[in-house]
Amino acid sequence: MLDLAPTPLRQHKPDKLRQLGIMSLNGMFDEMDGVAVLRQAVTELLVEDVAIVSSFGADSSVLLHMVSEVDKDLPVYFLETGKHFPETLDYVETLKQHLGLTNVIALRPDSKDVLRFDPKGDLWETDPDSCCHIRKTEPLDAVVSGFGGWVTGRKRYQTTERGVLPHFELTSDDRIKVNPLAYFSDADITAYKLKYGLPEHPLYSKGYKSIGCAPCTSAVAEGEDARAGRWRGLNKKECGIHFDFNGAIAKPMAAQELNLFKDGKFIADPFHPWAEGDDAGSVSYKHIPLAVFLENRDAVLANPHPVGLLVSPGDNVDLVKDDLDLFPSIAINFPAYTDGRGYSSARLIVERYGYKGEVRAVGDVLHDQISHMRRCGITAFVVKHEPTKKALEAGKLATVDIFYQPVGLTEVPLGTRPFLRRAVENA
Ligand code: SF4
Repeated sequence: MLDLAPTPLRQHKPDKLRQLGIMSLNGMFDEMDGVAVLRQAVTELLVEDVAIVSSFGADSSVLLHMVSEVDKDLPVYFLETGKHFPETLDYVETLKQHLGLTNVIALRPDSKDVLRFDPKGDLWETDPDSCCHIRKTEPLDAVVSGFGGWVTGRKRYQTTERGVLPHFELTSDDRIKVNPLAYFSDADITAYKLKYGLPEHPLYSKGYKSIGCAPCTSAVAEGEDARAGRWRGLNKKECGIHFDFNGAIAKPMAAQELNLFKDGKFIADPFHPWAEGDDAGSVSYKHIPLAVFLENRDAVLANPHPVGLLVSPGDNVDLVKDDLDLFPSIAINFPAYTDGRGYSSARLIVERYGYKGEVRAVGDVLHDQISHMRRCGITAFVVKHEPTKKALEAGKLATVDIFYQPVGLTEVPLGTRPFLRRAVENA
């Protein structure tokens, strides 16, 4: 049974290294071996401000042995995607005990994200980038944002993309990625394991030379690249967490842009805009225009991917009232600031038909509209207008206290008698 500590909340500490310059940092440590790089990072440069990230895969024992040499209490984060081989979960326990690691922490995906985007658990098959995004990138991003740096087990020899990997990388959000094994060869890894008698992953002897989630990992043949068994047959080499070599953690699903304002912050939007010619029966993470849905209802119902509904001015929401709950997200289109028909559509969907999923505003979404949109049940906003973005980020939202046209059950119109107003306030 996997027994892992809960995720602690961390506050990001100011980075102390940026001024030194990443080039000089790599020059200083170029000649050092992996343990020395790790020791310097942990004890001098990023004291109590660095996390270790391990997949507990085929080569993980080497980095984790180094960690145990430097400090057995260092936080080691393991991405518990829920898709691992049982052998990997056993291996977590084996290495913890063998190396005496005391602070191995499982990072699990947000259950709401899994329910919303992967209710059947087969997203890896249809959209592996998105599957990795909700299971790896998002949970890890939330944690490493609280540290000044993090340590990875990546090596230059693994892929062409990693061929110039340095010991230290400065990310665009001012964090340090430390790669103590960057210069290790395949032979170095094997020699290190032998030298310290490190336990092998149970699947290694069965031909699994690089081990990730079970659905996306296969054994490799003699002479094949070690990572050839990862996402075999797909044009995919990285899970996303190391995708951006020089910059921040990659978000392939969202094209990096944080333009969806939801729950008080901007996040990566998993949905892409609907495009002319899209096929409603096979699109993934798109809001299907209501008219297209009506024409292709059977095909949409047979579509295995998560899709939303796009409601534009003039659409008759009554025609889809029985289908609303099929969609995890409904987008209300506000094509122009002066067009208020979206408010009525949102109220119908939320108040009359009791829709409980995400209702988002898209189109010409401006600061002054947002409080009105919220009153109508809209909870998420796709914002392109820069001043509006800045106002939202700064928490400067306009509010409405006087209602000429009240909505819902809790607003009373201007001029209502005091006893009625008190009744609503006390309700
Ligand atoms: S490796 Fe496969 S199963 Fe694991 S998160 Fe990525 S796509 Fe999903």
